[in-house]
Amino acid sequence: MNKRGVLTVISGPSGVGKGTVINRLFEIEDNLYFSVSATTRKPRPGEIDGVHYSFKTREEFEHDIETGEMLEYAVFNGNYYGTPKSAVEQRLSEGKDVVLDIEIQGARNVKKMMPEAALIYLLPPSIEELKRRLVGRNTEDAETVAGRLHTARIELNEAPELYDYFIVNDLVENAAIKIKDIIEGERCSKSAMQEVLKQILEEAENLA
Ligand code: ADP
Ligand code: 5GP
Repeated sequence: MNKRGVLTVISGPSGVGKGTVINRLFEIEDNLYFSVSATTRKPRPGEIDGVHYSFKTREEFEHDIETGEMLEYAVFNGNYYGTPKSAVEQRLSEGKDVVLDIEIQGARNVKKMMPEAALIYLLPPSIEELKRRLVGRNTEDAETVAGRLHTARIELNEAPELYDYFIVNDLVENAAIKIKDIIEGERCSKSAMQEVLKQILEEAENLA
């Protein structure tokens, strides 16, 4: 039976631990596909082109927008970020579950196009701890940290009405397990089970 994969969107303020929790999720769960985004932001030390992001120039990114290759895109702190459409579509139709790590504007657009997507928002245990994690990561200068905290404040205000699930990232392991459980639950949703239901109903028709 052909079952469509579950699309899960993970968002949260910069520094809350999205990347860390998603890495753990991929260690405890198979059959997941991480959608590698495109961005015009410069790579951080250790980030690999094609693994963490596809790093692009502004011109390249704008070309991809014009040719309709982006499922969604947004400007975050002065840089473009976007999800390549074809890879996500292909994996979902193959029955693979897909995880996106995207910010709130992107999440809103995904929900419009694919209302069946599960939208998860990661929360910090406190704002003090969020600051500690963001500064402690040591990847951004003071100005960028301030910009990201400002964006976090806006996001946190808008998140409650958009997202389906909220997880406090206290311990990485707990947060990863909660996401795994949500995906498991979503696999039984009406939209994920559409093809299975159709087939069973067809078989039932033939019974009579
Ligand atoms: P994001 O992808 O949301 O910007 P990162 O995954 O880069 O965040 O995490 C930011 C920092 O917080 C990293 O230094 C990471 O090791 C740390 N971190 C992530 N999750 C936790 C946690 N549950 N407890 C303590 N530190 C964490
Ligand atoms: P960072 O620069 O810390 O890697 O990411 C900054 C923000 O961009 C994060 O909130 C992350 O979730 C978001 N982001 C990463 N990829 C995408 C994408 O493809 N689309 C959108 N809309 N946001 C993204």
